Formats: sequence, C-alpha cells, structure tokens
Amino acid sequence: MSKWPLGVFASIDAGLGVHLEVAHELQVPTVHLHAPQKQSRTPERAKEFAAKLKDLGIKISCVFAGFEGESYADIPTVEKTIGLVPENTRTERVAELKEIADFAKSLGVDVVGLHIGYVPHDSESEAYHEVLEVTRNVCTHLAASGQALHLETGQEPADVLLKFLKDTGCNNLFVNFDPANMILYGAGEPLPALELIGSYVRSIHCKDGTWSDKPGVTWGTEVPLGEGDVDMAAYLQTLDKIGYTGPLTIEREIPQEPDRQKEEISKALDLLKSLKSKILQEDAKA
Ligand code: MG
Repeated sequence: MSKWPLGVFASIDAGLGVHLEVAHELQVPTVHLHAPQKQSRTPERAKEFAAKLKDLGIKISCVFAGFEGESYADIPTVEKTIGLVPENTRTERVAELKEIADFAKSLGVDVVGLHIGYVPHDSESEAYHEVLEVTRNVCTHLAASGQALHLETGQEPADVLLKFLKDTGCNNLFVNFDPANMILYGAGEPLPALELIGSYVRSIHCKDGTWSDKPGVTWGTEVPLGEGDVDMAAYLQTLDKIGYTGPLTIEREIPQEPDRQKEEISKALDLLKSLKSKILQEDAKA
C-alpha cells in the first residue's frame, strides 16, 4: 500500500463512526472498524462483512474493541469504566477482547485497537503490576494468531505510556496515536508526545480538539478536523519525521446524520489530501 492511505473510523452495527456506505461514497480505501456487537461476531457474519468490504473496495486496518458499560461521560467516569483497568469487569472483558481478536482474525485483520483505561501512574503500585499482567495475557493470545495490540493514547502522559509499553516486555504491543485525545484529556502537548513514543506508533487517528480550561479535570471539546488545537500540518510533518507510513484514519466521535457526516468527513479528507500532497512533494525534492 502506498504511503498514508486515507481512512475513517467506521462502524457496522455498534457505537459511533462513519457508515460504511459513506466511506465508500467518499472513496476512502481503509477503515478502523468498531468491533460489532457480540451477536454479530460469528464466523458467518465475518464472512459476510469481509465480502461486503471487498465489494466496497475497503480494507480494514484495525478492529477496535469496546465493552458494555463503558462511558465517556466525563473524565472520572472514564477512569471508572473504560478498558481493562477497572477491576470489577476485568476478567469478562479480557475474555471478550480475545473473542474480538479472534473475530478480527477471521476478517483477516491482524491489528486490534483498545482504550486500555487509565494506566496507574505509580509504577510501584500493585494496580500497575496487575495492568501489566493483564496486558501480557492479552498480547500472548494475540501473538499466537500473529496479531498486534495497539493502545489508544490520551489517558496518560507520553512518558507514563512509554514506560508501561517497555515494562510489559511484549513485542506485539504498539500505539494508536490520537493527537486530539492528548488535548481532550489534558495529557500533554500531542506533537512532543508523538516524537517521544514514535517508534511504537503503528496506527493513528486524525482527530481535532480544543483544550479544556481545566485540563485533566474536565473534557476539552472535540471539533471538526482543522478547527482545533492540533496543528494538522505539523502533525503530518511529525508523522513523516518518525517514519510513519500507515493510514491516516479520520475519527469523529459525534453521532451524526449521514448527510452531515458526509459533508464533514469530505472536508476532513480534502484537508488531509492537500497537506499530504505538500509533504510528499517536499519529501520527493529532498
Ligand atoms: Mg481515537
């Protein structure tokens, strides 16, 4: 695949994301796919999905896992409900995550994305070691099918994430970098973070947002691509600098009517196409 194919975060039957038909109409060649609901994760449905995507000319580059009971209502709720960190749901979610990974495999996808939750910042704490252990457990399952796990950024500063990645010792554990999340969660300036964890970045989101007036306490605001505090030109330049060549996957987390969604995603695609062509031209000259 050529450098930086465009992509969108899409959904078949669950969660937020662009409708596959909209992705197709806009001629988007790749998607990150929200894992469909449990009743749809059968080998038969996998075959159907794979055939549909092939018809639409769309390649899935990552299947993103999500779980019942997760809520992004506010930052404290995220801490309590998201990913594999909350103890009360950990066992069942690990089992479900492995099922989702197997479903991804049956779709021919070797990358699973995940918001793991708030990694405890104190690396001496028991909680930190439990989260390390559960991550190793999942990565071992994925490694057996030749799959990798990509952790979504945002819930912790880049240095905490970097230490965590190293401490797991897993060689199939990488990062899905989302610059807007760093801002929305108040976890630090996105571009220095991207440079710091650059060697782990194997997939990315193109999303934009503005800082909260109380970073880390209340949410920032997600906004259309190019209208927020992520400098998109500098973002792409930094991706170029760290040697990232994978898809540029637009993520928009606001539920929208197909027409409005199409208009907004179309604008975001135009922005990325223009920035991308400038950078590729400069690269060619250099
Ligand atoms: Mg994201």
